[in-house]
Amino acid sequence: MVHIVKTNQLTRTYGGKEAVSNVSMSVKQGEIYGMLGPNGAGKTTVMKMITNLVKPTAGEIELFGERITDSSYRHLGRMGMIIETPIFYDKMTAHENLELHCDYMGYHNKNSIKEALELVNLNAIDKKPVKEFSLGMKQRLGIARAITTKPELLILDEPTNGLDPVGIKEMRELFSVLSKQFGMTILVSSHILGEIELIADTIAVMNGGKLLQEVPMEHITRQNTEYIEITTRE
Ligand code: ATP
Repeated sequence: MVHIVKTNQLTRTYGGKEAVSNVSMSVKQGEIYGMLGPNGAGKTTVMKMITNLVKPTAGEIELFGERITDSSYRHLGRMGMIIETPIFYDKMTAHENLELHCDYMGYHNKNSIKEALELVNLNAIDKKPVKEFSLGMKQRLGIARAITTKPELLILDEPTNGLDPVGIKEMRELFSVLSKQFGMTILVSSHILGEIELIADTIAVMNGGKLLQEVPMEHITRQNTEYIEITTRE
């Protein structure tokens, strides 16, 4: 089994306090890996370390089978990510924002922008300026931007935050398409078990900076669902 992300004893401290403590996790190729935990559990910090936005205080990260060191970070082009609320050029259209991203990433495939906008159901309004978009539309545009370069690994931090039930359902369907049809590996976080268990192949339960459990979905029983519910309660 190929691992796309593997961390070993990953730790990050801020002012002496451990935001992430000794997290060892592995994300397998092609799977949807759901990180579940309440606010402050350390999910974002783990994602920031994997995407090189924050340096680990200790521990190791392997990406695409290669150990990441301080000086080497060659894999960003193989990843798509939304770690914080996506920011766009508001006066530009959805299509122009994606074009700009592709130029920045040095990715030149004429159809990919159109395809990405179709996947998130924004193709009909791709000529509208982003300032006219709702929060849900911006979330979807963020995902379109993240997938427009056809990344092998997609990292999404709480992508359903602020979405209504219809938006959440659409997001879930999109993950399934990206995983099944495009073979993308997806690392996604949420604080809602009911959301994660509907999409994930593996669930990682985090609290207080620690990874408490990493369970394949097929091993989830009623008993550990109750345990997960209790440990991830806000
Ligand atoms: P949330 O859903 O609220 O983002 P999370 O599970 O993603 O929660 P993190 O954002 O990773 O959790 O935060 C983990 C802990 O680290 C929290 O206690 C947070 O206050 C702390 N922390 C995160 N970033 C910083 C920072 N830049 N400086 C100081 N403390 C930080």
